[in-house]
Amino acid sequence: MKKNQKGYIINATTLLLLIPLSIIGITIINQNNSINETTVHSIHSKTINYQTKDIKQNMNSEIKETLIQTTNKIITTKTPLKNSTEYLINELNRKMKEIYKTKNIIVTITDIKTNPDDSFQIKVQYTIKIEKERIKQEEENTEYIDIEKLSDPIPHLETKQYETLKHDQNTIKYENQLQKYLKNKKLNNTEIYQNATSPYYITKCPYTPYTQHKNKNIIKNCLQNKYYHESKDGACYLCRLEGKSNCPHYGIETFIQPNSIELNNTTINATCSIDHVIFNENSYPGENKTYAEYNNSSYYIILDNAHSKKYGTI
Ligand SMILES: [Zn+2]
Ligand SMILES: [Zn+2]
Repeated sequence: MKKNQKGYIINATTLLLLIPLSIIGITIINQNNSINETTVHSIHSKTINYQTKDIKQNMNSEIKETLIQTTNKIITTKTPLKNSTEYLINELNRKMKEIYKTKNIIVTITDIKTNPDDSFQIKVQYTIKIEKERIKQEEENTEYIDIEKLSDPIPHLETKQYETLKHDQNTIKYENQLQKYLKNKKLNNTEIYQNATSPYYITKCPYTPYTQHKNKNIIKNCLQNKYYHESKDGACYLCRLEGKSNCPHYGIETFIQPNSIELNNTTINATCSIDHVIFNENSYPGENKTYAEYNNSSYYIILDNAHSKKYGTI
């Protein structure tokens, strides 16, 4: 009985001694595991961060390239998009799948619209999902794409029933297509738009506030450089891809420059030279505003009162 009791006591003591030892053992194993996991986790997190950074850096040029391809296709086929946002989201998501298909990366474009604060930018929202071992990361991002140096499909779409428009690096040369187009709309004095010109690419006018255009050198420079301006009435870039010259979004507008006329003081009443007026179903007229006179020629644009005021009462 005593022996047994003693034996029991020894056993219990051994057991009591063993418990702390095993706790230490478990702690060491756990520490090892967690050290490994932390190391692996941080390696993967670093890789994921590098990958995310790369994707974000490439995003702007990928989207811009798709915009260029889309616009060129619209101009060549003279066919507008039915829904530019939907079309671009699909095109870009298809492209993203091709680029990242083998890398456990899913890039999804979720929204494309004209930046309501800057009509020379397109706002693109997208998510990046990356999976690496047990780590999953999801990130939402916004990218702003400049529409500068993209071409405007509206002149090509509006005059598509006539001969294809000629252009060089900067300028569309209408020859007789625009005159025919305006004559078809039964408008007055269409002959001034014979050999008219307008921008081929979108370039933002640097002369802000726009009332500076009152200065003849500034308006002359603006017309020579074929600049575009912010506009409440002119269509935004995404709506232009759908063949619309007006839209409810914050948009852009440019001048379509009539040919020069022989110097005289007569007033010309003709369709206003603003692109979204010329290409709208309901065009309205304006008066000639002369900005240069040389070699017995008068250089002018036609503006209505509201637009004349916008550009500084030219
Ligand atoms: Zn300007
Ligand atoms: Zn729009």
